[in-house]
Amino acid sequence: MADATSESAEPRVVLVTGGNRGIGKCIADAFRAQGDRVIITHRTGDAPQGVDAVRCDVSSTESVDAAFKEIESTWGPVEVLVANAGVTKDTLLMRMTEDDFTSVLDTNLVGAFRVAKRATKGFLKLKRGRIVFISSVVGVMGAPGQANYASSKAGLIGMARAITRELGARNVTANVVAPGYITTDMTAELPEDVTADYMASIPAGRFGDPAEVASAVQWLASPGAGYVNGTVIRVDGGLGMGL
Ligand code: NDP
Repeated sequence: MADATSESAEPRVVLVTGGNRGIGKCIADAFRAQGDRVIITHRTGDAPQGVDAVRCDVSSTESVDAAFKEIESTWGPVEVLVANAGVTKDTLLMRMTEDDFTSVLDTNLVGAFRVAKRATKGFLKLKRGRIVFISSVVGVMGAPGQANYASSKAGLIGMARAITRELGARNVTANVVAPGYITTDMTAELPEDVTADYMASIPAGRFGDPAEVASAVQWLASPGAGYVNGTVIRVDGGLGMGL
């Protein structure tokens, strides 16, 4: 079923960056299952079979622009953007190089800015648009060894709110989903002691599933969330409660 925010019967064009695996793939599958036209970006390797995909490295403005041109000419303008692509490069502050810091910012925060800016061009013509930034509970709580990652994820909240103030009256929403510990390749890389610490502090007593993140994203892009703007939804089993 296409979203009722569409003014035509055509399915919405939904773009999910980093939709080739992990949380992004699950989000893409969820939108596809409800009838939207979903395009994913993949950076390395091949896209999963049978999905519409464009190659894109969000750390390159040229790559982002080329991806949008391909999407617009093949499927039409993007109406829902899920800025999900992200990386970690964890190490303690005293060991973190400037490159460790800026490269994570360049993908997670500036990359999200690049795609949001490019998508907005189409939103203004369409007179509607939805942006969901995939942040992290670490962006509001902080975490040792993640000064770079936490800064990038906190920055997404400020960016969503600035966009809300700029474009809220133009039928554009920009919201944030902040997952907690979700089982994917990214968390598989965490040391066992860090994983055990998280488990001990999660009120739900378990790690999250990518599908639980996808349902929050889907709701933010749904007609029922048309008046929800500049907000942060934590999907973290209560880990970041009260922040
Ligand atoms: P994965 O490591 O499984 O996947 C990351 C995705 O981002 C991949 O598709 C990857 O593409 C893509 N990506 C990375 N860098 C770039 C780039 N420069 N350009 C384009 N795509 C890029 O991560 P998750 O699925 O776990 O995480 C998805 C998002 O959710 C991230 O933003 C992450 O920070 C956030 N998150 C995850 C949590 C978790 O517990 N897993 C918790 C909180 C937030 P490629 O395959 O080419 O590497």
